[in-house]
Amino acid sequence: MQTIGILGGMSLESTMVYVGELNRLVSRALGGLHSPAFVLCAVDFAEIERLQVTGQWERAGELLHHAAGRLELAGADFIIMATNTMHKVAPMICDGLRIPLVHIGTATGEALARDGVTTAGLLGTRFTMEEPFLTQVIEGFGIDIVVPGLTDRGVVNDVIYGELCQGVVREESLVEFQRIIEDLRSRGAQAVILGCTEIGMLVKTASLPIYDTTVIHVAKAVDLALESVDE
Ligand code: GLU
Repeated sequence: MQTIGILGGMSLESTMVYVGELNRLVSRALGGLHSPAFVLCAVDFAEIERLQVTGQWERAGELLHHAAGRLELAGADFIIMATNTMHKVAPMICDGLRIPLVHIGTATGEALARDGVTTAGLLGTRFTMEEPFLTQVIEGFGIDIVVPGLTDRGVVNDVIYGELCQGVVREESLVEFQRIIEDLRSRGAQAVILGCTEIGMLVKTASLPIYDTTVIHVAKAVDLALESVDE
């Protein structure tokens, strides 16, 4: 089994979901006492969030590049970064790294294309919904992306940072998310991408098929890690 490097802490709430899901999939695949081989490097999310809101992406990229180097030194065979938003600086993170970064957008695009989805709604942070770094990767698989309107993008963003990243799951927020997903459906979306690694903590079912980037990303990582394992 290959060793997975998890670049996490963004937030730690979703990193813990990554670890649980990794364990579930490896146990299911190999049975018995098998569990995933991984190394984790978690950053302090308050520092990352401060760099995001002040537009210091270069600095954030340096910090995560350094963290990725630590994963490489610790013996990771490849890296998964447990956040959609920070894939904005994926090129900086990969620069000079000898091991690959398994991109969350690529894994998601592959999953949607495999199922024949051609138009998908996207929920995520403001950065993820409004900037091209994730959507262009998914669109590369021939998928059109629909995002909520300005006000609803604000609602989704506020719930992510103000609640989910702090481990708070509120029924009122779920009602809002269901309304927003229904709106995406009425605008032609055939599926909804949970394009933020914490949204799956809140949204478990919806009026559209769910593509949870956390679940998809972990599944891809487990496939890679077990590629050369004889079952
Ligand atoms: N985990 C989130 C994501 O998937 C948001 C936290 C962050 O800004 O990294 O985008």
